[in-house]
Amino acid sequence: MKDGPDGKQSHALYSFEIRLEGKMLPTYHRTISMQALSGLFSAQALEIIISANLGQDHWLRGQIGHPEYHFDQNAFFKSRNYIEQNRLLILPALQAGDIRSAQQAFGRLTHAAQDFYAHSNYVLRWLGHFPEGRWPLPAEIDPFDAGLLEVRNCVQERSTGRLNHCHGYLGLAG
Ligand SMILES: [Zn+2]
Repeated sequence: MKDGPDGKQSHALYSFEIRLEGKMLPTYHRTISMQALSGLFSAQALEIIISANLGQDHWLRGQIGHPEYHFDQNAFFKSRNYIEQNRLLILPALQAGDIRSAQQAFGRLTHAAQDFYAHSNYVLRWLGHFPEGRWPLPAEIDPFDAGLLEVRNCVQERSTGRLNHCHGYLGLAG
């Protein structure tokens, strides 16, 4: 996401047209992964990582009952834990010689991390630091502005622990 030197183009990059009904299209997960990871892994390893990443959006195994795979339904804590759980699988798998499992765990966590920016209002809130029309390019987005991560003023569902109605605070984009 280095292109877009003029303001108009950068606005187009923030248009959220990459999302379809709140979901990021597979082609964008692939492109983002390739941009971030090319040169760091072999082509074969990259394919396993990306395949595991894309598998998270499988309509049955990935979409039903797994908001934590996608930072959906304001499941921020659960999703953060899911990333951490996958991260903790990587080193033991490598030490056991199970490279494929390590690559798959890494692929799954990259999916969740990518969805965080597409499925939450983090980016919109970050852009709120700047006057409209004078937004920095996507590559300049602070990947972790702790000030935007407040989830107060939310209504927490007793049964699920989900945080809803986070108006003005971090919440589901849409
Ligand atoms: Zn997803």
